[in-house]
Amino acid sequence: MNGNSPLALAYQSVLDRIRHACAAAGRHPDGVRLLAVSKTRTADEVAALAAQGQPAMGENYLQEALDKQALLTDTPLEWHFIGPIQSNKTRKIAEHFQWVHSVENLRIGRRLSDQRPDALGPLDICLQVNVSGEDSKSGCTPAEAQTLALELAALPRLRLRGLMCIPEPTDDETLQRQRFALLRSLHGQIRQALDATAEAGGDTSARLAAFDTLSMGMSDDLEAAIAEGSTMVRVGTALFGARPKKVASV
Ligand SMILES: *Cc1c(COP(=O)(O)O)cnc(C)c1O
Repeated sequence: MNGNSPLALAYQSVLDRIRHACAAAGRHPDGVRLLAVSKTRTADEVAALAAQGQPAMGENYLQEALDKQALLTDTPLEWHFIGPIQSNKTRKIAEHFQWVHSVENLRIGRRLSDQRPDALGPLDICLQVNVSGEDSKSGCTPAEAQTLALELAALPRLRLRGLMCIPEPTDDETLQRQRFALLRSLHGQIRQALDATAEAGGDTSARLAAFDTLSMGMSDDLEAAIAEGSTMVRVGTALFGARPKKVASV
């Protein structure tokens, strides 16, 4: 793929948006990572984006992701699982991903920890929080987040990296900022709680250092998310174009 292909241009334009948003917020651009969301996209499209220099891909559907990974074994990529997790999928997720952003309860966290192969090192996870309060959305409640985070941080083969949210879509930038600000404030509270556990003698200083991630912001709201402290934006549409209508998938 040459540097002027639509995908190459879209990639540069997303990187530009991130840089501009960082500058507007007085933040260093290295403080925000781009996770390219490749659900519904082919292995060829993923390879083309990787060839432009994008190292990390996010996938929502396990089988689709495993199929792509099998076609891309020669392409070094960091794979992130970002979709809802059914318990019968945890083993494969623990075996085939470096990160999981969508952990929302202790049961799934325990399974991922139990099933993570020792040889792969700890699985990086985020706790997903439902910051919009809609019944239909995944994620724990903001009130549950701290207790759950401390429990997840104690699991042996997981490394709790931070929090993730998917707010309701809205054009109202004030509302977008409010949702992201809530996640940031929970992150700060949980850092303090982890710190307190460390002082109480728990072996948590490494865990505290690892708790550095706010996974928030997508194609339509990454500027608001970066203004509120996002460290990882998950972008699909702005890179690959509108997704085909979703067919039945697992
Ligand atoms: C699909 C998806 C994205 C990307 O959304 P876009 O609007 O296409 O950028 C980000 N995060 C999660 C969890 C997703 O499922």
